Amino acid sequence: MNKKEKKKLVEIIASRIEETKEEIIELKELVKPIPLDASIGRISRMDAINNKSINESALRDKEKQLNKLEKALENSKDDNFGMCTKCGDEIPFGRLEYMPHTTRCVKCVG
Ligand SMILES: [Zn+2]
Repeated sequence: MNKKEKKKLVEIIASRIEETKEEIIELKELVKPIPLDASIGRISRMDAINNKSINESALRDKEKQLNKLEKALENSKDDNFGMCTKCGDEIPFGRLEYMPHTTRCVKCVG
């Protein structure tokens, strides 16, 4: 990755962090406890509970992702940035552009 690509990537990471933070704020609103209010009815209450658990797992994913993005931003100062942490190969720029929080190449994921 050249300097220009790196600069672009840092910008992508920074904007992803902002996006993810906003999504987390929204999800946190959605996972607030459901009031024990008879007025919403049993079915809607079940829906609300289902949606809540979907949103809770989405929130957990987003928080993990934010964590990785923040780490990636920190790592971007490092010389090894963009290298696979497992095999040491350079991670293709296209992959980093698509998922900037990744620390492994396609071969080493999973
Ligand atoms: Zn690798």
